[in-house]
Amino acid sequence: MKNRIYICTIKMNKKFIFLLFLFMLILLLVWIYKINFLQTVFHSYEKRIVIDPGHGGIDSGTGEKFGIYEKQINLDVALRLRKLVEKDFKVTMTRDKDISLENKSDLNDSRYKKDLHARKTIINQYGDLFVSIHVNADPYNSKTRGVKIFYYPTSEESKKLAHSIKKEVDKIVYKEDLKKAEVIKEDYYVLRETTCPGVLVEIGFITNVHERKLMQNSEYKNKIVKSISEGIKNYAKKSR
Ligand SMILES: [Zn+2]
Repeated sequence: MKNRIYICTIKMNKKFIFLLFLFMLILLLVWIYKINFLQTVFHSYEKRIVIDPGHGGIDSGTGEKFGIYEKQINLDVALRLRKLVEKDFKVTMTRDKDISLENKSDLNDSRYKKDLHARKTIINQYGDLFVSIHVNADPYNSKTRGVKIFYYPTSEESKKLAHSIKKEVDKIVYKEDLKKAEVIKEDYYVLRETTCPGVLVEIGFITNVHERKLMQNSEYKNKIVKSISEGIKNYAKKSR
C-alpha cells in the first residue's frame, strides 16, 4: 500500500513537471511571438528621415572669404542632428563625410546638377521626410541675420514641418531674443523634386559677424540641432 502511494506520487510529480514544462514552453512561445509582433508593428510605423548636409567635397558652399567652409558647418550640424533623431527615426545621410555627390548620379549634366540629382534620388528612395542643412550669406548687407526655413509652396505637409521647426527655434534659440525664425516658400531644386515632406534650414548668416561666431560655437550648434530635432519629432507625432 505504501509502495503504491509512493509510485503514484512519483507519477503525479512526473505529470506535474511535464505540465509545468509545457506551460513554460507555451509562455515562452507567446513571449517570442509578441516580441516579433511588436517589432513588426513598430517597424511598420517607424519613420525614415534623410538628413542632407548641403555641399561637400569640391563644393565648399559659402564662407570661404572668411576662411570658413559652409560644407563643414553643414556636416557638423547634420551629424549632431543624426544623434538626436536616430532613436526615433531610421536615418539616412546624403553624405556623412566631406564629399560631393555627383559620382552617385547617372545624369548627363553639369557637376552641380548631378550633385543635386543624387541628393534628391537618395531622399526619394529613403525618406518619409527630409531636412537639408545650409548656411546663408548676404553679400550686400552684413546686418542680415537669422534662421530661415524654406519649403516648397504647394506642399502643405512641408509647411507644417517648417512651422513645427520654427516654433522650437523660437523657443530654444531665440528664447531671449526679439528675433524669430522665418518660414519662407521657395522653389529650390531639392524642395521641388522630392516626393516626401521636407525643408531646407539655413541656420544663420556667415556674412553677419555675430552669427559667424555662433556657427563655430558648439553650444549654438547644439541649440539649433535640438530645435530642429524637436520640431521634426513634434511634426512626426501629429502626422502619424
Ligand atoms: Zn548652402
